[in-house]
Amino acid sequence: MASEFDLIARFFARPAPAGMLGVGDDCAMFPAPAGMHIATSTDMLIQGRHFFPDVDPHALGHKALAVNLSDLAAMGAMPIGCVLGLALPQADESWLAAFAQGFHELAGAHGCPLIGGDTTRSAHELAISVTVFGAVEPGRALRRDAARAGDQIWVSGALGAADVAYRLLDGQLPADDARLAATRTALERPQPRVALGQALAGLAHAAIDISDGLLQDLGHILRASGAGARLDYAAMPVAAPVQGLPAETVLQAVLGGGDAYELCFTAAPADRGRVLDAAARAGVPVTAIGFIESQPGIVVLDADGLPLRELPRGFDHFPVS
Ligand code: ADP
Ligand code: MG
Repeated sequence: MASEFDLIARFFARPAPAGMLGVGDDCAMFPAPAGMHIATSTDMLIQGRHFFPDVDPHALGHKALAVNLSDLAAMGAMPIGCVLGLALPQADESWLAAFAQGFHELAGAHGCPLIGGDTTRSAHELAISVTVFGAVEPGRALRRDAARAGDQIWVSGALGAADVAYRLLDGQLPADDARLAATRTALERPQPRVALGQALAGLAHAAIDISDGLLQDLGHILRASGAGARLDYAAMPVAAPVQGLPAETVLQAVLGGGDAYELCFTAAPADRGRVLDAAARAGVPVTAIGFIESQPGIVVLDADGLPLRELPRGFDHFPVS
């Protein structure tokens, strides 16, 4: 079997960009851009909890980095580089080659080279930990505590596809091969909204990426900002392959569905035009879905302007009930 160092050299070491020290020393190093702050975030993916054991390794490599790039996007930060921790039950070389390729392809697409990490054998399930580093001007960062009453609430892309794919794969929805084929990419290869986040830096007020469901993640903005929200359910951008499912399934997928990795953000209503221009420059559609209110709590209004009574709960690793 290949040693740990062979595996790192073959699959993970890549020439570092000019000016950086990459894989091979005790630390990676990169210059801190003048006047900027370093934004950093870590996300773990554990087999059986965050992905199915038979998931395509190329897609898993993509997703492990995508969920972290999504955090940089939600801060309005520009990616600099990343490090990868791997705890492997075994060293399956064709699996590692595909995983690394999926990872490096997305890293290349977003200018976020892999510059270090740690590789170890695991007596348990596969665990992946990625840390990203980015740069943002401190006054322009999209913080969760920056929503103001009267702000418009926006969401990027379309919602619900990843949740429907997950429920199809998990057997919670009746088998439907056509719908699985149309939704699976959203679950397995989310596209982090990095360009949109940077285009919104200094323009939007608060932002978050939707990993646990729109209502739950928007709830983090509301708590941090000491505010509430009124949402218009009829305005929600529902992913095309989700339309046509039973109304409760669509509602759960759109308002409660995790793994979306779209951005939910707030901005002054007067900046509506600038938000649309920023989205056009980033090549991502955005939809206004409601307003921030001073009264705490979330109210979702139906097409008749009446509050929806049954709202889904987002995903919580440690539910209290
Ligand atoms: P140390 O003993 O100093 O922690 P390691 O032997 O763990 O060093 O790692 C050797 C080099 O390989 C380091 O530069 C480390 O950052 C890098 N590295 C280890 N695993 C990975 C990985 N999965 N991806 C990228 N770089 C890695
Ligand atoms: Mg190490």
